[in-house]
Amino acid sequence: MKPEDESTPDPTTRLVHADRHFDKAQGGVHGGVHMPVHTSVQYGYERVEDLIGVFQGTVKGRFNYARQGTPTTAALESKLTQMEDGVGTVCFATGMAAVSAVFFTLLRAGDHLVASRYLFGNTISLLGTLQGLGVQVTLVDATSAHAVADAITPATRMVFVETIANPGTQVPDLAGIGALCRQHGLLYVVDNTITSPALFQPKTVGASLSVNSLTKTIAGHGNALGGAVTDTGLFDWTGCANIFDGYRQGDAKQWGLTQLRKKALRDMGGTLSSDVAHRIAVGAETLALRIAQTSATALALATFLESHPAVARVHYPMLASHPQHAIAKAHFAAGAWLFSFELRDADACIAVLNRLQLPIKATGMGDTRTLVIPVAPTIFWEVGAARRAELGIAEGLIRVSVGLERASDLIADFGQALA
Ligand SMILES: *Cc1c(COP(=O)(O)O)cnc(C)c1O
Repeated sequence: MKPEDESTPDPTTRLVHADRHFDKAQGGVHGGVHMPVHTSVQYGYERVEDLIGVFQGTVKGRFNYARQGTPTTAALESKLTQMEDGVGTVCFATGMAAVSAVFFTLLRAGDHLVASRYLFGNTISLLGTLQGLGVQVTLVDATSAHAVADAITPATRMVFVETIANPGTQVPDLAGIGALCRQHGLLYVVDNTITSPALFQPKTVGASLSVNSLTKTIAGHGNALGGAVTDTGLFDWTGCANIFDGYRQGDAKQWGLTQLRKKALRDMGGTLSSDVAHRIAVGAETLALRIAQTSATALALATFLESHPAVARVHYPMLASHPQHAIAKAHFAAGAWLFSFELRDADACIAVLNRLQLPIKATGMGDTRTLVIPVAPTIFWEVGAARRAELGIAEGLIRVSVGLERASDLIADFGQALA
């Protein structure tokens, strides 16, 4: 097989050779096998016509000012596009910058958004801000496509879900909602953070946009913040009234990406730096290897805990006891590294956590180290007990983000902590 042969279906084979092809396509001649870090903010041109062309969008794939991208961030974007099998990607400084870009540039006052009620806590908080600006929001139990269907009104423009919810691990009816969105011409936005494109491509269920917090498993080492929005190419942007007139020209497949890059990245400025993009791209090269391992470890540990007499319940999509187990099995190559569990004696939660030696008591997820956190008194403290009950978050719930430690080491440590 020639190195430039992209016919292999293996994502890692393609990923580790992406830099030299991208560099060649950009006119690179120095032969570096890794993408260099471009720190320049300004990009200059010999001929002023080219500078004008960059501004007017007639000269493609070039740069003008680093707030809208650099060759290094563009290389990462092209890798993410390949991983998601999309038509293009825009990167942001954080996952939340990517999520807010989607809401603030593709919705306007008077529009209606249907969102899963099982969402990342900060996304739920952001939806409150959005409501203050005149966007109507309905939160539904998206594990049922019927619940989504019932919420749709003539003003509905978008449906937003996460593949595996944190911390409860609920899985939406991904394909059912996809069919519904297609039927109603709605933007279907799937936050793919917990699964990542290594386990699931939202395009396969009809998603219009896939959002990833790169901070988690894609960068994968707990040393970089980043976010991305990938257009799958399935949505017909000609039917989207919120695309600004100036961007309704040329290839309609690019309209959404143009709006995101100009209105979110350029105007709002949540830009990913080249240094961090480089670190994320290096981490991404081992994504498939790491997530196969962390998924296997998570399943082993979740299975151990489910059979432990001190444990009341374990939430992990690849356990047969999970309410959306069949959907998870049908769509995800593995269950990923996130699970949560409840002790029979909720009051023992703090003591059990303090007895754990290997997992680090910390917020955050998708690190190489296993992280544990009691959910109610920390990440879901602000919302209060009533809302926690509504979301099915038990007061003694413990969230686990599984790292690269050996499964038997983790099982032994949880065993002694629960004894
Ligand atoms: C962490 C996370 C985000 C936000 O990502 P940051 O990079 O921390 O801003 C968004 N969605 C999901 C599902 C997440 O887990």
